[in-house]
Amino acid sequence: MNSSPVTPKRRISILGSTGSIGCNTLDVMTHLGGREAFEVPAITGMGNIELLAAQARQTGAEFAVTADPDRYADLKSALAGTGIEVGAGPAALVEAGARETDLLMAGIVGIAGLAPTLAAVAQGADIALANKECLVSAGDLFQQAIAKGGGKLLPVDSEHNAIFQVLEQDQRHAVDRIILTASGGPFRDYSRDQMAAVTPETAAAHPNWSMGLKISIDSASMFNKALEMIEARHLFGMRPDQIEVIVHPQSIIHSMVGYTDGSVLAQLGAPDMRHAIGYAIAYPRRASLPVERLDFARLAKLDFHAPDETRFPALALARTAMQRGGLQGAVLNGAKEIALEAFIDGQIGFLEMADIVAATMDKLDDGRVAQTIEDVYETDRDTRGVAASLISKSA
Ligand code: NAD
Ligand code: MG
Repeated sequence: MNSSPVTPKRRISILGSTGSIGCNTLDVMTHLGGREAFEVPAITGMGNIELLAAQARQTGAEFAVTADPDRYADLKSALAGTGIEVGAGPAALVEAGARETDLLMAGIVGIAGLAPTLAAVAQGADIALANKECLVSAGDLFQQAIAKGGGKLLPVDSEHNAIFQVLEQDQRHAVDRIILTASGGPFRDYSRDQMAAVTPETAAAHPNWSMGLKISIDSASMFNKALEMIEARHLFGMRPDQIEVIVHPQSIIHSMVGYTDGSVLAQLGAPDMRHAIGYAIAYPRRASLPVERLDFARLAKLDFHAPDETRFPALALARTAMQRGGLQGAVLNGAKEIALEAFIDGQIGFLEMADIVAATMDKLDDGRVAQTIEDVYETDRDTRGVAASLISKSA
């Protein structure tokens, strides 16, 4: 008999395949065997139809979706004759998440990633989570959905991936603190006056990591770290006072866990998102990845210093949101998304982003706890309304 068993291909869907996380994910998948090793039930993008169509052809994706309902015809014609199914708009995004898959890479930016990711969670897929907004906005509900769906939650955010790697599961009772590292961004050494005058272009130029526009600007304001503090609280079940942030300009230590015996375990690597992405894809094994190896003699020294919360008020806002609890994470995130867009559009200055977020959080501090995901969406909508009206008043 000549019936050698064929290993079934691993099925991986990618939400946000055209973005920075999405492109890095496809790069890792190509390195790990491409179409020989993987099937792609669904991929999604938004405005970059040409890239989305090229990715769909290259991976042999079964379903390609643009989030923009007006681009359906463009995507359809770009994929004519391929047999690849095409969809557009929010319902198609959710359908992409719901397509049967082993692992879903959640790489959409913002709250727009929540609904399609939850669709994948509900069908029991493992989730490689880059989209931190899922946990920031809907932390407890998201974790409950994961428990119900039965899939694994694998953090892709580099800091959380690092913690996941060094958090000893049978010693969770002995975890004292987690220490998130932050590069400090391009304005690490700027005065407040200098920060008040920066443009979106300078804010988007990250010194170490190459990332999407919004997360790059969030890194410059440290709102990215603020979201990551809340993300860490939900991922690892920490109290707010157990979550520390340290500025580490070289981004070599990706984060650390401190134990009650005084030991601190760290994960190190070159600043390259393909580490965390490859870790999540290969988990629980370790794959061979095409990332730079650290040369410690050349690195010579690693620096650390405490973050300055007067210049980076986002960190204090994260702590306030965690202490207040309820829907304040959703409010912080929604207000931050509106303020960020206003900064990108030139309506407000760099430092005003935090003022808008703080004022919106105060206005919507009603102690309410989300019972359903609809409560999260409702709060997100209310938040956007409040933040937008504060912005128009400040203009
Ligand atoms: P990006 O802007 O490069 O890509 C975002 C992707 O989402 C694109 O495919 C885009 O088409 C899609 N998208 C944008 N708006 C959308 C909408 N309204 N509806 C549906 N799809 C939409 O962003 P990124 O840097 O890849 O980041 C993606 C997520 O991963 C973010 O949540 C970010 O915080 C997180 N993350 C990114 C990095 C990184 O290195 N880039 C690191 C850690 C975490
Ligand atoms: Mg990060």
